[in-house]
Amino acid sequence: MQSLWNDQEAGQFAGELGQRVYTSRLLGREAALVLHGGGNTSVKVRERNILGEEEDILYVKGSGWNLATVEAAGFAPLRLQHLLRLVTLDEVSDTQMVAELRRALVNPDAPGPSVETLTHALLPYKYVDHTHADPIIALMNTADGRERVQEVYGDQVVIIPYALSGFRLAKTCSQIFPAQAGPQTLGMLLMKHGVFTFGDTAKCAYERMVELATRAESYLQQRGAWHISIPDIAPPQKPLRHDLATLRREISRVAGFPMIMATHSDAECLSFARRDDVAAITQRGCASPGHILRTRRVPLIGRDVEAYRRDYETYFATHAAHTPQPLMMRDPAPRVLLDPEYGMGTLGTSAQDAAAVHDIYRQTIRIILHATALGGYEPSPPITLFGMEYWELEQARMRKPRTPPPFAGEVALVTGAASDIGRACVEALLARGAAVAGLHSTGEVSTMLKRPDFLALPCDATDSRALEQALEATVQAFGGLDMLIIHAGIISHPCRIADMSLSAWHNAMHRSLDSSLMVLREACSLLRLAPRGGRVVIIASSNVDEAQPGAAATSSTRAALEHIGHMAAEEWHNDGIRVNMLHPTIAAAPAAGGTRADGTKWPALPIEKSPGDPIIHIAELSAEMCGPLFATITGTQLRIGAGSAER
Ligand code: ZN
Repeated sequence: MQSLWNDQEAGQFAGELGQRVYTSRLLGREAALVLHGGGNTSVKVRERNILGEEEDILYVKGSGWNLATVEAAGFAPLRLQHLLRLVTLDEVSDTQMVAELRRALVNPDAPGPSVETLTHALLPYKYVDHTHADPIIALMNTADGRERVQEVYGDQVVIIPYALSGFRLAKTCSQIFPAQAGPQTLGMLLMKHGVFTFGDTAKCAYERMVELATRAESYLQQRGAWHISIPDIAPPQKPLRHDLATLRREISRVAGFPMIMATHSDAECLSFARRDDVAAITQRGCASPGHILRTRRVPLIGRDVEAYRRDYETYFATHAAHTPQPLMMRDPAPRVLLDPEYGMGTLGTSAQDAAAVHDIYRQTIRIILHATALGGYEPSPPITLFGMEYWELEQARMRKPRTPPPFAGEVALVTGAASDIGRACVEALLARGAAVAGLHSTGEVSTMLKRPDFLALPCDATDSRALEQALEATVQAFGGLDMLIIHAGIISHPCRIADMSLSAWHNAMHRSLDSSLMVLREACSLLRLAPRGGRVVIIASSNVDEAQPGAAATSSTRAALEHIGHMAAEEWHNDGIRVNMLHPTIAAAPAAGGTRADGTKWPALPIEKSPGDPIIHIAELSAEMCGPLFATITGTQLRIGAGSAER
């Protein structure tokens, strides 16, 4: 590991807190040190209060901030004296501790201080850095981890046995650290958890962190346990979308709510999942107690979700029997899957959650392989990991009433996604918590949105091979398909019947109708597997029952689409798929400034749409038709004259 310190960059961060912000970001840049809210930092500053009195203030990273992007406002300022006196008490529950941390804040609007605040407070150094450095964790997660870290660091670190974060950890450190620390001390190691470094300057604390991590790397290197060779394995060639969607449905059923499932079929994941000893090494537990809430204690190997559920319930019952308070069990569904056919799957209630689980477990795989190469991976025992998973602060969080967004954990596909209405539908679904795949016949869909819960699919839906690949990509990214909004807003050139050529007519049927039929046909088997039942909304046009001279081709495609919708509602009723239709006055607006059936131009819409925009109404209504309001409605049509196209 290299120090990323740069004098010129550092100079742009003024003051003691500014320097704190700078090296916190440097730590955050290194995935092997911190991931997804892991790690925290602090600085002790002397400040004058409103009464003119000098006070020692501990600025510690607040919850909800990541080190990589933290700003000064992300640090919570607390009165140091109060914190130091707290640590002298014999017994403080973590709930009491959190209340006392809030009481010690000098700024009531600051973010919640880290649960490791008291440990930062008691270390008598200006700058304190804490990470969960992977190479050090790999060393500790072996049978003789303590001897190994002693061998690497000698008396330059103080070693603390494992304790739950919060008051207990601070108390343990306060009893051991002062007795063992000296001028030679560079850091403090928390067994099976992480590492603290410190110093008079931000640079010193940071560079000590890099040094300690690098020494662990070198130790692994010298024992041939650092470099992990990844065999050349090609991703699976055969379509897996039905297997994966079936698996996601089963996991969502066990969880009690729908989940996003991302799959990763690269060589690193595949080779790990195909190891002969994969069950033996992964079922020992996750690499750090701090990861258990994201990844669960162990991954599911293979596809027997019921067996995983039974094992989880046994694990819970065994350990919960020994706790004084009754505990509320978390859902017994896995969050990480390992399978020799497709590699790794990661789950969460949003695409962002599933991505965080992926990042963490990929690091876990590396830690497991380093430790295995050293002679054997040995993480914290189940009882320790259970203690973290059912920590009183986590139980309190679980018991708080929460209202997830209506489509949390669900997946939608929108066709014609780059058109005005299509794009507004994408945004309405994202706003309700769904992950969305946007399909469009041209490439402009690729640049319209950059976020982890949106997948752009430039695809000609009349090409069945391309469409299959698009659905395959959707399921790989998100796990299945729950909602489909069909908006094929193609308008044919206005032409009266007397002048219509057969090729113009065929072209209209092909572009509007063939693609919609193909999407419906291909999506059906996936919609059947939707945990809450599949939903389809077809956006047609009010032209269906209005005769507009010159619009024979366009209106006929919409009328046919309407009928296809009716048929689908009938045919799929027993599969739990609802199909409804929406006929807006302005449904057929193409991407930007196309031509309407009567030959006049559609206005090109600005990207920022006002809430009163009829396009927004159509999109919002389409999304609502997929939601609980329409839970018992199928085969219905809504005609909306949401304003005029002439705006
Ligand atoms: Zn920690």
